[in-house]
Amino acid sequence: MHLQAPPFPLPRLRRRPLGPRLGVRTVRAGLVLAFGMRSVSRVPNAAYTAAVPRGTDYALARRAVLRDLRLGTRAREDVCDAHPELVRAARNVGEPATADCPVCGGGELYFVSYVYGDGLKAANGCCLSYPGELDKLRAKHDEFDCYVVEVCVDCRWNHLGRRELHGRRHAG
Ligand SMILES: [Zn+2]
Repeated sequence: MHLQAPPFPLPRLRRRPLGPRLGVRTVRAGLVLAFGMRSVSRVPNAAYTAAVPRGTDYALARRAVLRDLRLGTRAREDVCDAHPELVRAARNVGEPATADCPVCGGGELYFVSYVYGDGLKAANGCCLSYPGELDKLRAKHDEFDCYVVEVCVDCRWNHLGRRELHGRRHAG
């Protein structure tokens, strides 16, 4: 499956780093954060790879959204609004999550990974759709982004989990 337009809003980049309180290290003018395994416990690395890439983890934002939902300050329809294309991608090529959906408690939670980069050409803006695809792109391109989105196909909960940097420039 190849989706050309992102079926989810891309995040605005942070203007300032999260800071030492969170134990993160700032690189690239404070926009991109490097982190270790602890911070990725909820969201796996981009589909089909065991590497730990550099990137930005949106776990804090996720927690805040779920907290607002519990408190009733945010409506369920605001967070369970996955685009039909995103739900379809989750169902067909998503990586099953080990946890249940944080909103409906169902077991149909998936991670869908989208790649973006000028050099990716036809693959730009597409979701990863087969095992080994990310490794193939990493070996072929200097740099590209991968956005990992959490999607529930039951209640349509969706949240951007991580932005990862990949490519030969970030290898090793
Ligand atoms: Zn759900």
